[in-house]
Amino acid sequence: MTTDFAFNEPRLWDWANGMTSRGVQDSEERLHDRDTKLKMTLHAEKNAIAFATAPLDGSTLFCTHPCCTQCAAMAIQVGIKNVCWPTPSPEFVRRWSNDLALSVEMFHEAGVNVHVR
Ligand SMILES: [Zn+2]
Repeated sequence: MTTDFAFNEPRLWDWANGMTSRGVQDSEERLHDRDTKLKMTLHAEKNAIAFATAPLDGSTLFCTHPCCTQCAAMAIQVGIKNVCWPTPSPEFVRRWSNDLALSVEMFHEAGVNVHVR
C-alpha cells in the first residue's frame, strides 16, 4: 500500500450501497431479511462503476472503506488504476481481515495502486 499519489487521471467516487434499482422493489420485507438484502444489494463501488458516464481505464476510485474482493474484481476489470480508502477501524479490520487481505492481493497482482490515508 502507498500513501502518496497523483490526481491527474479520471476519478470515481463511490456511492452508497443500494438495492438494485431500475424496477426492482426495495420493500421492507426484503430490507429486513439480511440474506435477501445482501443478495440484492450492490456495494457502493459497484454502484459507482455501474453509473459511471466516462471510461474508467486509468481512473482512481475513492472509497469510504476497503474494497471487498467482488468490488476489487470489478474495479480491476474496468481498468481502475488507483484505489483510495481511509485507514479502517480496528473493528472493520478484525471483521473483514481475510477479504481485505485478498482484495489488496488482487489489486497488487493487477498493478492497481492502493492508497490508505
Ligand atoms: Zn464490495
